[in-house]
Amino acid sequence: MKCAICQSDKHKVVFNELGVDVYQCAVCGQLFSAYGGDQYYDGYFGNGVIGYDNFWWNEAHQKMYDDFCSKYIAGKSGKLLDVGCGLGFFVKKVSHYQGWEAFGYEISKAAVNFAQTELKLNNIFSGKVEEADFPKNYFDIVTLWDVVEHLPSPDVMLNYINLVLHDDGILFIHTPNAKVQLFKARIKKLIYGMKPKIHYLEARDHLNIYTTKTLPMILRRNNFQSVSFTHLHPIQSISGSGSGRNIFLKNLWYHFSRIMFWLSFKKVNFDNLFIAARKQNK
Ligand SMILES: [Zn+2]
Repeated sequence: MKCAICQSDKHKVVFNELGVDVYQCAVCGQLFSAYGGDQYYDGYFGNGVIGYDNFWWNEAHQKMYDDFCSKYIAGKSGKLLDVGCGLGFFVKKVSHYQGWEAFGYEISKAAVNFAQTELKLNNIFSGKVEEADFPKNYFDIVTLWDVVEHLPSPDVMLNYINLVLHDDGILFIHTPNAKVQLFKARIKKLIYGMKPKIHYLEARDHLNIYTTKTLPMILRRNNFQSVSFTHLHPIQSISGSGSGRNIFLKNLWYHFSRIMFWLSFKKVNFDNLFIAARKQNK
C-alpha cells in the first residue's frame, strides 16, 4: 500500500483499531488506514431522511460555522460551494447571508434528499463533484468540512476544486490532525482498552489523516498557494441532554489550543487542522 501524499511504500504500523492497521508513512508522516475504502462511498448517512442526529449536524457545529462566517462571509458577497455538504446545514447558514449564493455537493442521495425536503434547499446536488458541470472560475470559496480524511486519493477532488475556483478564490479545509489524534487514540486505548463504541482514529472511515506538513504538500501539488492555518471554535460534541461537562472541557481545550497557536506564531495546531489556501494564478 502506497502513501497517497508522497507515493512511498515505506511505512510502519502505529495503531490497530478493531483489527484494522493504521500506518504512518516513513517519508512524509501521513497516517493512512489499511482498510482501503471507496473514494465514492455513499453509505455514510444511511438510507433514510429521518433519524439523523440533527443536534450533532446542526447545533453542535454552529459555533465553528459562526467563526467561519465572521472571517470569510460577513460583509462580503459571492458564491460558495460546500463539497461533502452532508445534510446541508452549513449551506443553509451561508445562504442566509445577504449577497451570498451557496451550493452543496454530496455523494449520499439520502443526505441530499434531507437537505432538499427538510431544509428546503434548492442548490444541493448528489453525485461525484468532479462530474458536476459548474463553469470554470465560478466560486469565491469552496469548503471541505471533514471530507479529505475520507478520501483514499484526494488529488482528483482538489484538482477539480482548483478549476471551479476563480483566480482569487479560497479553499477552506477542516480535517483531523494526525499527530494529536494518534496521541489521543493511544491514551484512550490505555484507559479503556479497545471497545467498538469508542472513536479512536475511526480507521474504517478516516482513510487519510493529515499533518501540518502533508496537507500543505498536497495543496501545493494541486496548484494552491498562500496556504495558512487558522483556528475555529470546536464542534460542541455532546447530545442535548448531556451534562455539559464535555462541552466545558472542550471549550477549555479550544481556548488553550488557540492561545498556543498564537504564542507559537501560528505553528502549533491541535485536534483539527483548519487550513485556507488560494488558487494559484496561472
Ligand atoms: Zn508519505
